[in-house]
Amino acid sequence: MLNGLPEPIPDLDTQPFWDGCKERRFLVPHCEVCDTPRWPPGPCCPNCQSQATKWLEAEPRGSVYSWIVVTHSVHQATHNQVPYIAALVELGSGIRVIGNIVECDPADMAAGMPVDLIFEQTESGAFLPNFRPST
Ligand code: ZN
Repeated sequence: MLNGLPEPIPDLDTQPFWDGCKERRFLVPHCEVCDTPRWPPGPCCPNCQSQATKWLEAEPRGSVYSWIVVTHSVHQATHNQVPYIAALVELGSGIRVIGNIVECDPADMAAGMPVDLIFEQTESGAFLPNFRPST
């Protein structure tokens, strides 16, 4: 369980995403007109500006596009977690999302490394998406 982290604050554009996380599903908004996925969630399609949205579940795996090893904590909740890995992960639908890579030595990180999606529960019961190396 994650303790002390800031909790998600859903809004009109992100409520379906956070609802999906409660069910351990990573939902991505897609345009109903042209099918373009958009990330992060926003009010309209960046391709055709339609506001018609359908939410589709992403495959629970991806690959590391880039990463950093955080060694300096900037929030009290992470004082005991440094060093940790913050990464940009490319999901199968072509979007890139930010998450932590857990259960991984920073020295083992590599571009293109396959990772699996996991959900970690916070104190309030929210679920945050993160990743770990594929087994
Ligand atoms: Zn569109």
